[in-house]
Amino acid sequence: MLFVLSFIFGAIVGSFLNVCIFRIPAGKSIAYPPSHCPKCDSPIRGYDNIPIISYLILMGKCRNCKERISFRYPLVEFLTALFSLATMIMFGPSVAYLIYFAFVASLIVITFIDLDHQIIPDIISLPGIPLGFLASFVLPEITYKESLIGIVIGGGLLLLVAIGYEFIAKKEGMGGGDVKLLAMIGAFLGWKGALFTIFSGSLVGTIVGVTMMVAQGKDSKYAIPFGPFLSMGALLYLFFGEPIIYWYLGII
Ligand SMILES: [Zn+2]
Repeated sequence: MLFVLSFIFGAIVGSFLNVCIFRIPAGKSIAYPPSHCPKCDSPIRGYDNIPIISYLILMGKCRNCKERISFRYPLVEFLTALFSLATMIMFGPSVAYLIYFAFVASLIVITFIDLDHQIIPDIISLPGIPLGFLASFVLPEITYKESLIGIVIGGGLLLLVAIGYEFIAKKEGMGGGDVKLLAMIGAFLGWKGALFTIFSGSLVGTIVGVTMMVAQGKDSKYAIPFGPFLSMGALLYLFFGEPIIYWYLGII
């Protein structure tokens, strides 16, 4: 029952995350106006705004003008629902569930905004740093020292990499947004989580980057945003960090 509720709760939150992903980069209010069709402007009625289900009933089209609705909406709702469920399985009905689910939800928003616009909005990552630090005082999973060192290592290490890259390549590689994001991840997951996120995010990012370069020819101009890979690394650590670390230490 708890798992079903957490899934439904996640889907509803996911519906709100869609609004954030769409409106934050455009500098619009996330509270007003209520959801409306981007094509015909007709307001979306309550019964057409049920996460995942409404998309299926309407078969992906606006009820009024039949304009196609992006598959992204139910996808984000479903993803958020799954992560809510996973967080509930991991932490049970607790403060830890609420905090970590909020953290995961912010990573989902950051990932899709970064994919769309190649930016990581400060409005999410910057408040995330002190919030993550404050959370460490109530979370049994992490001490405030681990969180503080996580902020310094996460932000600091990536800042060094960014400066080093700019110095060698004479062009800007990593955005300041990535630095702030990793500081936020360090605040929530501690320094071990920050290091794990840098390594796993860079590893997956490099594999995907090289694959895309091979597929598109050598001088590919498409910059790949790093935010989604950092988010992926952070999620990997949150849900599977310890088993992966033990497995890794076991094979070397
Ligand atoms: Zn419409």
